[in-house]
Amino acid sequence: MKPHTSLDRRHFLLGSAALASACWLSGKATGAVARRLSLQDDPFQMGVASGDPDEHGFVLWTRLAPRPFEGGGMPDQAVEVGWEVAADETFHSVVQKGIFHATPALAHSVHIEVVGLKPDRWYFYRFHAAGQTSPVGRARTFPRRDVMPSQLRLAFASCQHYEQGFYTSLQHLAQEDLDICIHLGDYIYEGPARKNGVRQHQGREITTLEEYRQRFALYRSDPHLQAAHAAMPWLVTWDDHEFDNNYAGEISEEEGIDRAAFLRRREAAYQAYYENMPLRSSALPAGPQLRLFRSLPFGRLAQLAVLDTRQYRTDQPNGDKRGPLVGDVFSPTAEMLGASQEQWLQTELLQSPATWNVLAQQVMMGRIDRIPGPEFGYSMDQWSGYDVPRRRLLSFLEEQKIANPIVLTGDIHCSWVNDLKVDFDRPDAPVVATEFVGTSLSSGGDGQDQHEGVPQILAENPFVKFYNGQRGYVRCTVTPERWVADYRVVPFVTRPDAPIQTRASFAVAAGQCGAEQIA
Ligand code: FE
Ligand code: CA
Repeated sequence: MKPHTSLDRRHFLLGSAALASACWLSGKATGAVARRLSLQDDPFQMGVASGDPDEHGFVLWTRLAPRPFEGGGMPDQAVEVGWEVAADETFHSVVQKGIFHATPALAHSVHIEVVGLKPDRWYFYRFHAAGQTSPVGRARTFPRRDVMPSQLRLAFASCQHYEQGFYTSLQHLAQEDLDICIHLGDYIYEGPARKNGVRQHQGREITTLEEYRQRFALYRSDPHLQAAHAAMPWLVTWDDHEFDNNYAGEISEEEGIDRAAFLRRREAAYQAYYENMPLRSSALPAGPQLRLFRSLPFGRLAQLAVLDTRQYRTDQPNGDKRGPLVGDVFSPTAEMLGASQEQWLQTELLQSPATWNVLAQQVMMGRIDRIPGPEFGYSMDQWSGYDVPRRRLLSFLEEQKIANPIVLTGDIHCSWVNDLKVDFDRPDAPVVATEFVGTSLSSGGDGQDQHEGVPQILAENPFVKFYNGQRGYVRCTVTPERWVADYRVVPFVTRPDAPIQTRASFAVAAGQCGAEQIA
């Protein structure tokens, strides 16, 4: 679909003549910019967001889309967007403001990297465009790098299939008293519209830039998702469905897909991801590449390393079929992070002064056999299918004595707590890290507390401390002394308004690897 062709020119009172080409990188147009644009429809229907805080500021995001499901509904020219950051919700004391030129090349998305703010405090922000004002969002700066904060409160979540459930979990998450929300991927799903869900995708499986943009617009139309973004800064990474199920680097899960065509599709998916997320310009896509891995210090309390286990990995071994640990599971050339991300991560960890070293990532690191009994069911898509890189990373944590590694994981639509070891076959092998696997927000529908075979799976995998199959997110309270993870679950998502409860709580004491259930 070509955007904008359906637009009625009367909706625009353009202040300038036709535009020269807009500058792709900076958001600053090189030609004339529409300053007195007037739109019939609200351009802020996709809400507002903030992300990636540091001690001086954060990213502010919105995307102008008065007709989100009709190609956005913006004119094919750059548009001025005013932004304000205030110390108070009524904007009496504005501390920063500016003008951004939203360009059609990036779907009139707005990414502002605010600097010069005070550390460790909350701010309010809003945008103005086409004579209209956006909803107000809250964002915060992180504490200075050299101080030890008394507490960090975060939630991590993933997997929000639009058709399979309402975003009740996000409705509750937005109400929590948190410093940041970490989203571990499957923010959208690429599949076609299907019947029998609680609501419906539009169209076929998405492959073009316009289709990816429209899918983001659909997901972002949800009021609970918007409220959760407006309430706090987010730290986002992707999993597979932002592009294509179980892809590995440049390789489709399907046989016979042309690699060049697949990379063109990846370029479209990655660009739409950037356009729709509160990411810094370091994540601007370059063709089919987008650098998403990065690390954020929360004072000396925690270092949040955000990983990308999709873009650089080698193909899943053994045809991506769940099974025993044989064959290419042990390939010495297998990669999960890719060499440069792995090198970067090691450097970050070695230099980290933090009490807690967090790896916010996608696929489960605990090597769990999911088939009870003598048969083996290891996932070939998770770290269990990539034995050499898994051992390399966990050995690094052990040998370099990295302080208190905490792995946060999404992807599999159920909750787990795992002690991580280099050698899972040795019950007496030391625990080198703790992994909290969070369930889905909505993917998979209502779910249930336990599933058949789980007691036996737990017995056969003694490093596993917990399983739950409901929907929700994990709330974490982090202090210099301990990390507490509360598994927050809702009993149903196929109807709205489910209540939330803490199903279980686990604690890790600083200096001692391994989680203990405390509630
Ligand atoms: Fe998912
Ligand atoms: Ca996934």
